Amino acid sequence: MILEVPTAEDFFRTGISLLNQAWNNVFELIEYYKLAKDQDMFEDASGEVDYWRAASDELSTSVTLTHQGISFLIKGKIASVNPHLLILSQPKDWPKGCDKGDVYFSDFKTVDTGDLVKIHNTFLPIKLDESFVSFFMSTSRKRNKIMHSIDNNLRFEVNSIIRDILITNDTLSNPGEWFLRRMEYLSTRPWAIIDHDEYYNDRVITECSYVKSILTDSEMKQFFQVSKKSRFYICPSCHSRTSGMGEDTPLFAVLKPNTPTSTNVYCFMCLQYSPVKREKCGEGDCKGNVLADNVGCLSCGES
Ligand SMILES: [Zn+2]
Ligand SMILES: [Zn+2]
Repeated sequence: MILEVPTAEDFFRTGISLLNQAWNNVFELIEYYKLAKDQDMFEDASGEVDYWRAASDELSTSVTLTHQGISFLIKGKIASVNPHLLILSQPKDWPKGCDKGDVYFSDFKTVDTGDLVKIHNTFLPIKLDESFVSFFMSTSRKRNKIMHSIDNNLRFEVNSIIRDILITNDTLSNPGEWFLRRMEYLSTRPWAIIDHDEYYNDRVITECSYVKSILTDSEMKQFFQVSKKSRFYICPSCHSRTSGMGEDTPLFAVLKPNTPTSTNVYCFMCLQYSPVKREKCGEGDCKGNVLADNVGCLSCGES
């Protein structure tokens, strides 16, 4: 008998964790970069080039983690059919004596990463399409490209890795729910035991604000099912979970339905619907007319 056979859930959990670690690296670089820019710490343009060149280790590690994350999520899909499909099929490759006593799953040689797509597409009803397969292959080449890059383009690799993670989540995990996965991940980290929830909520709001700023309209629709051209309001639900000290406002909610009399907003980050009142804000020259009890005006934030 084979012992400790991993479940689909085991592979999914590891895959999402790897994507989160890649995301952590990327946002650490972005945060320091923003801080340095805000405080004029780069003496000239070459200072920025040096910053991103020095970041090549973190960037290439993020790409590797993303590639591994994709592999684990595909393994999870295969394991949802049968985890034994991940074991090399030739009995001559199996551990000695496996037919005479118990053996651990981890003692078996498992299939090569290069064969995962073929196994997935053979046994699962919905195949991975060609564009995703070539994207998956490209993530392994990307690492070398970063390691050997010497120009300022490395600065843009952070955005490219963010897109890679969103594409992966969209294709292999829960479409539209990346930031829920992100909050779940942060809330289960060791330091979550000693820190406050508000910190993680502030952090994810900052990350979501950045993501919203770099994605195109079609990417926003693809990954979060909202148009970038929408009028965005403060999400009452996200707002209630912040510390009030974060650097960004959760401007992630849109009217649902998008009509002048609508009394609900929907947030693309936390996926919550919140009831709103349709009254004039009246603060300065704010033209807002969407209010919530716990925030006040969802346009300007004045209570
Ligand atoms: Zn929200
Ligand atoms: Zn207002």
